Amino acid sequence: MSPDEIAGLVTRLRDQYNAGLSRPIKWRRRQLRALRQMFVERETAIAEALAADLGKSPLESYLSETGLLISEVDHTLRNLTRWIRPESVSTPLALQPGRSRVVRSPLGVALIVSTWNYPVLLALSPLIPCIAAGNCAILKPSEVAPATSAVLARLLPDYLDPDCFAVVEGGVDVSTSLLEQRFDKIFYTGSTRVGRIVMEAAAKHLTPVTLELGGKSPCLVGKHANLKVAARRIVAGKYLNAGQTCVAPDYVLVHREREPQLLELLVRTINDFYGEDPKQSGDFGRIINTDHFDRLLELAKSGRPVNDLCSDREERYISPTVLTEVSPESPLMQEEIFGPLLPVLAVDDMQEAISFVQARERPLSMYVFTKERDLIDQVIAETHSGGLCINDTVMHLANHDLPFGGIGQSGMGQYHGRWGIEAFSQSRAVYEHRLRPDPPMRYPPFDEKSEEVTRWIMSGRPTLWQLIRRRLGLG
Ligand code: NAD
Repeated sequence: MSPDEIAGLVTRLRDQYNAGLSRPIKWRRRQLRALRQMFVERETAIAEALAADLGKSPLESYLSETGLLISEVDHTLRNLTRWIRPESVSTPLALQPGRSRVVRSPLGVALIVSTWNYPVLLALSPLIPCIAAGNCAILKPSEVAPATSAVLARLLPDYLDPDCFAVVEGGVDVSTSLLEQRFDKIFYTGSTRVGRIVMEAAAKHLTPVTLELGGKSPCLVGKHANLKVAARRIVAGKYLNAGQTCVAPDYVLVHREREPQLLELLVRTINDFYGEDPKQSGDFGRIINTDHFDRLLELAKSGRPVNDLCSDREERYISPTVLTEVSPESPLMQEEIFGPLLPVLAVDDMQEAISFVQARERPLSMYVFTKERDLIDQVIAETHSGGLCINDTVMHLANHDLPFGGIGQSGMGQYHGRWGIEAFSQSRAVYEHRLRPDPPMRYPPFDEKSEEVTRWIMSGRPTLWQLIRRRLGLG
């Protein structure tokens, strides 16, 4: 799409928004139901695209993409009335007789720019609250997952109202042209580097942004952890989608006394999950492209593999690998890994682990495995992260009632469930004043009496009893 065509598209959507097309609740529900229908009717086409881009099995595609989207639509449809209902708030005496409400207003025309690792989920999960809140939108899927981008561009217009929603395919140039336009909301998922570019572009029009970014999510394993369960849950979270998950545990900090046992259990669990040769497993994915493949093999040089590190460039395959003897200063510990390499670093105690996390950028997620309540409380109180899972990894994002988002370098703003509605709407203050009475003392010219009464009313909240006492000259 040329920059002129993009400008024309934004104008067309804005006209439809201003005409009120996307506002009726019935219409929003119809769009959400149509989206759900697409996930069900076109599950195979979507799964084929995900297999082509990321080597995902049909079950993984369902579990981590379409299935989650279906349940998010259902959750939204169930709760929409409650989430968008105007909220009555109290009205102080000075503003009586009147009433005050907070009305959830849509924002207008939104731009959703998404990434490639869960290319269906991360493009459409923000679209659900965007629709539910009454907005129009342009969706720009990632060009790095071309089969999925194409399937979304082909399918969405068959299900969603094309007057209000459009898919624009393309790479950085198209993304740049889109960002030059004036939107009422930009929702971006991707790297911290591009997040800065998006925020700079948004600043030009003072457009509000939600930035869903990445980073290194630490996993702490305490002295008193159940290591067998920890190993299973770390391996499950780390090697899902071949490690290309924004909330995957990036590295492990384990109590030194438990390190040998944890390393052994991690390797054994990898074998249990993916077999002797994970390349043959239908449950283990592929690296998105050769650039990332090369980057990962370079990073792997930072440590000593505990199990075999096997790779095949043609197939973009890197085996699920655990690394030890990794220096905190090594390249592996400087950037988000985003692949199937898991460095394990030993610490003398959990205070050292907490200090390690505090000294680095605030992560998208954090994990702690322990049976000690004091350690859990300490981690909650003394660290920052977008989300925190205790004795598990990744699963916090499957609860639609928990906000999902980062902090600091890992993002700003949140979505999922009602948090998504907040991301795509404005809490609008509405105060309605009765026409009568209309006492003259609030208007100029002010005299001593009006000043005294005004000061007294505004000084607090006089009770009815105080008013009567004052009337009787008693207070
Ligand atoms: P990417 O290359 O797919 O880029 C994301 C989007 O930004 C794409 O649509 C792309 O076209 C656009 N883009 C790229 N460069 C641009 C530029 N210079 N100007 C304007 N637009 C541009 O994805 P990526 O950046 O490689 O994403 C991987 C990162 O995303 C990882 O750090 C990961 O942790 C993070 N991530 C975060 C979440 C989350 O929910 N917080 C989810 C998934 C991935």
